[in-house]
Amino acid sequence: MTEIAFLGLGNMGSGMAANLVKAGHIVRGFDPFEAAREKAAQSGIKPVTSVESAVSGAAAVVSMLPAGKEVREAYEAHVFPAAKPGTLFLDCSTIDVASARAVVESATKKGFLMVDAPVSGGTAAAQSGTLTFMVGGSEAAFAKAEPILAKMGKNIVHAGGPGTGQAAKICNNMLLGISMIGTCEAFVLAEKLGLDAQKFFDIASKSSGQTWSLTSYCPVPGPIPTTPANKGYVPGFAVAMMLKDLRLAKDSAKTAGAATPLGQHAEALYTAFADAGAAGKDFSGIIEFLRNQKP
Ligand code: NAD
Repeated sequence: MTEIAFLGLGNMGSGMAANLVKAGHIVRGFDPFEAAREKAAQSGIKPVTSVESAVSGAAAVVSMLPAGKEVREAYEAHVFPAAKPGTLFLDCSTIDVASARAVVESATKKGFLMVDAPVSGGTAAAQSGTLTFMVGGSEAAFAKAEPILAKMGKNIVHAGGPGTGQAAKICNNMLLGISMIGTCEAFVLAEKLGLDAQKFFDIASKSSGQTWSLTSYCPVPGPIPTTPANKGYVPGFAVAMMLKDLRLAKDSAKTAGAATPLGQHAEALYTAFADAGAAGKDFSGIIEFLRNQKP
């Protein structure tokens, strides 16, 4: 039974760590919040009160932390000094590409294998073990990481070298943010032109305007009964989370010298929506904001 350290027992990490326990691993979990550790203990995770006590003796370390700053600090100050030789590191947090690459480079210099493996799918997928992992790292690191990730997800894709998992995540979510705004604009225009929303859905879903935002995550109530639009835009995927990813995309585009005008515009619109009090709403709720904009 492989021993695994799990860092970050929040909304996502608690479900992911529980699935590692179900798969037969001994999981030592650390989170600075006592309440998170207590909740995790109910799923069979062994709560510990420091990163070091989670990591020492573990064969692998999985982290699910808020942002790049926490990931850099946790690995440099606590994980690397406490890990035994041969420990595998899997950072599943969504962070900036530069931080991901810096931490992997540091791990490699110390002789460790590490992957960046951000996820697609929310807390329900984390609990049910059906996440998609986008993995950046060497062939050797991916080969060792895949069997562990397979216990927490159903699609595991090797994106390329270090940082490419994070690159895939932010490029995908920038596209999602843009396409959701486009889909919402089309519904608002259809409404104002007297075209019934269901009729527009029936036509566009079979035409060249078809997108995932329309046919899987429709932002108006009715056509897809399970979407947040049918439940008052309770998330789902919150505006604050979309904004985090759009800001990461904007920063990465600046560093890489890529023009992303629509990505930047999407970030500005989501910022205005969040500032209007909607940070905790589902991101498809931006249709309400657009409906009320002056032309
Ligand atoms: P969360 O805030 O619920 O959990 C993060 C946890 O990390 C917190 O409990 C915090 O106390 C803990 N933490 C902070 N510093 C720590 C440290 N040094 N060591 C151990 N734990 C520490 O956030 P979440 O929703 O679980 O998201 C985690 C990551 O997953 C983020 O990077 C987020 O962008 C990404 N993500 C979230 C979702 C989602 O739907 N929630 C979906 C995809 C990706």
